[in-house]
Amino acid sequence: MDSSDKKNNPYYSNTDSSKLNVSDDEWKKLLPEDVYYIARQKGTERPGTSRFEYLKDKGTYYCAACGNGLFVSDTKFESGCGWPSFYQPISKASIIYTPDNTHGMTRTEVQCGRCKAHLGHVFDDGPPPTGLRYCINGVVLDFKKAKEAEKNFNEKDKKD
Ligand SMILES: [Zn+2]
Repeated sequence: MDSSDKKNNPYYSNTDSSKLNVSDDEWKKLLPEDVYYIARQKGTERPGTSRFEYLKDKGTYYCAACGNGLFVSDTKFESGCGWPSFYQPISKASIIYTPDNTHGMTRTEVQCGRCKAHLGHVFDDGPPPTGLRYCINGVVLDFKKAKEAEKNFNEKDKKD
């Protein structure tokens, strides 16, 4: 999702971490169809379709619905599961965990800590140091390269 998609989304921010409570109807008007399907309807992208799966660039991954910081590239690893995988979120507050017993499985759903977008699931077969595998739909991720993220941060400083 590129920045042109976000012009009409007043909730999108890489710096505002205040919790959002936006109805699905409103999200439907604001989000591209594929993002809405996964973020709000708990859909799953087809494995192997995310451009982020093998991306090794340094930077930060944000929620594509609200811009909340979720993961940094340093914690990304190649799990071979077909989706972008991380072993640790940016902070405890960046993610919400919910038990998910659908599809005859016992899993833990991972949601955005700011807007509650469905992101994917977390499993306990990841690498050290956490042993966790956050298996995330690339459609609901926004990636900003390290340099760009730094620039945004500096711009924010100037405004303050
Ligand atoms: Zn979000």
